[in-house]
Amino acid sequence: MASSPILATSLPQKQPTTSSPAGGFRLPPPPEKLAILLDKSESVDLIKQIHAAILRHNLFLHPYHPVLNLKLHRAYASHGKIRHSLSLFHHTIDPDLFLFTATINTASINGLRDQALLLYVQLLSSEIIPNEFTLSSVLKSCSAESVQAIHTHVLKFGLALDPYVATGLVDVYARGGDLVSALKVFDRMPERRSLVSSTAMITCYAKQGNVVAARALFEGMPEIERDIVSWNVMIDGYAQHGFPTEALRLFQKLLSEGNPKPDEITLVAALSACSQIGALESGRWIHLFIKRSRRIISVNVKVCTALIDMYSKCGSLEEAVSVFNDTPRKDTVAWNAMIAGYAMHGYSQDALRLFGEMQGTVGLQATDITFIATLQACAHAGLVKEGVRMFESMGQEYGIKPKIEHYGCLVSLLGRAGRLKQAYEIIKKMETEADSVVWSSLLGSCKLHGDFVLGKEIAEYLIGRNITNSGTYVLLSNIYASESDYEGVAKVRSLMKEKTIVKEPGVSAIEVDDRVHEFRAGDRNHLQSREIYTLLRKLSERIKSCGYVPDTNAVLQDLEETEKEESLQVHSERLAIAYGLISTQPGSPLRIFKNLRVCSDCHTVTKLISKITGRKIVVRDRNRFHHFVDGSCSCGDFW
Ligand SMILES: [Zn+2]
Ligand SMILES: [Zn+2]
Repeated sequence: MASSPILATSLPQKQPTTSSPAGGFRLPPPPEKLAILLDKSESVDLIKQIHAAILRHNLFLHPYHPVLNLKLHRAYASHGKIRHSLSLFHHTIDPDLFLFTATINTASINGLRDQALLLYVQLLSSEIIPNEFTLSSVLKSCSAESVQAIHTHVLKFGLALDPYVATGLVDVYARGGDLVSALKVFDRMPERRSLVSSTAMITCYAKQGNVVAARALFEGMPEIERDIVSWNVMIDGYAQHGFPTEALRLFQKLLSEGNPKPDEITLVAALSACSQIGALESGRWIHLFIKRSRRIISVNVKVCTALIDMYSKCGSLEEAVSVFNDTPRKDTVAWNAMIAGYAMHGYSQDALRLFGEMQGTVGLQATDITFIATLQACAHAGLVKEGVRMFESMGQEYGIKPKIEHYGCLVSLLGRAGRLKQAYEIIKKMETEADSVVWSSLLGSCKLHGDFVLGKEIAEYLIGRNITNSGTYVLLSNIYASESDYEGVAKVRSLMKEKTIVKEPGVSAIEVDDRVHEFRAGDRNHLQSREIYTLLRKLSERIKSCGYVPDTNAVLQDLEETEKEESLQVHSERLAIAYGLISTQPGSPLRIFKNLRVCSDCHTVTKLISKITGRKIVVRDRNRFHHFVDGSCSCGDFW
């Protein structure tokens, strides 16, 4: 039985015959000696023997007992015997401040938050005045709700300037996302702010996407004090808030400084940055770095999953599969990443096959993320029957309640297959209110299948209810344009102006020689701009001679408002492709990354370019990958 140590009073009373250090005392052992033994104790058995000796010799009456008791508490806690150390507290008559504080701290750092707070209340009612260690211990258990009460105590007991307490406060406020309060405490901290509080503040800024403030604080820290945690927070902050290039730059800086050494978390953040901008070469370099640093970096399933994700998102599905196959003890997250990889590349059958294998693997349970990936696989391939069955099985067989993302996939699947009414019914019956993404998807399908009546009805409903994004307006404008209703187009435009809706500009990127080159529509900022445009003109003539007629309708249908104002020829992906053609070896594949969907005209042109240049062109757009080879695309023109 895992009895509480205090029950050891019922231990046999006969004198121990062993000569063990603690049990061997026939006379009352000197408490000071027991204290030294406790400090050195390396096993729980020995601690228990000492505990038994204390009880047997009634040492709890000794004036030195409080010190001994505290050491006993610490010894149990340091050996992971949390229940023993807490029980010791509960059996101590008149615990002093030190035992209170130690016990609150033990409870806090072991996640027993409620117990820690209760102990603190008990301390206050015993009229003991808490000190800085008590408050910094209790702060570790505070939530965003309870922190204000403790903050009041901090002020009341005059501990606001104590660095430990202030660090604790900054940490709780920062964790709860209360930037204003966190900053208030942080700014008042005495001269030397601790690494912990600075890191907490950086985390808080980064979480809120204020990377500029985070970076300023990071740069303000003495270099010698920055540990890998603060670097990680900063690199990850950039990666998670739309500054992947900055994240990679900072990662480079960390490597060039040589100290501290990157750990698994740093690498996962850097890989995530690579996948966002399609920096395949940088991603491969990090992979190599990981292989070379096996001794200091554990290549765990998290790192492998980040590699799978990076390779799939950077367009190299083959390498993603190879990492997946070599990953030991794959967990659900790793499987999900691989299924999603297959799905986004349009290898829907492989995604579904892997899903089947996952079902047959003991210890793995499909999650809501698994279903987003498999539903996307169905949507990308137009597998209506499979998709609907998958969606139904989610709730019926797996007990997973569909979220808005799942509905989004289903609506897109049905809509693209022309089952507009059915998709519309699903949106209306959804438990959660549809967001602008789901609506835009249906609206896009209305346009695709020429159902302008339903399309207009939906768009006007959305605009009326303010559930819109810039895409909704553009789609509505396109629908009017397709019907040559220019009054309607003008109406939408003025609405957009009135509501100051700004269309997200299209940006395409290509990585050449370890550098990512970005292009916007009609961009002339690139150093090789002249060559790019010359090549585009030549290509245009050649593809026209192949029978290509520009899809002028695509100018109207295009999702990109800014790009629409330019001619089709200078859509951002075409600039990136042209740059790729002049700056890489003939025959080598091109990988382009675009933040928005590829328009139908660019899709046709890219197919033709792949044919006349003999290049494989991989384009990742907002939704998926297109592999253009010899005049056709892996999406089968269904995207
Ligand atoms: Zn285009
Ligand atoms: Zn395609």
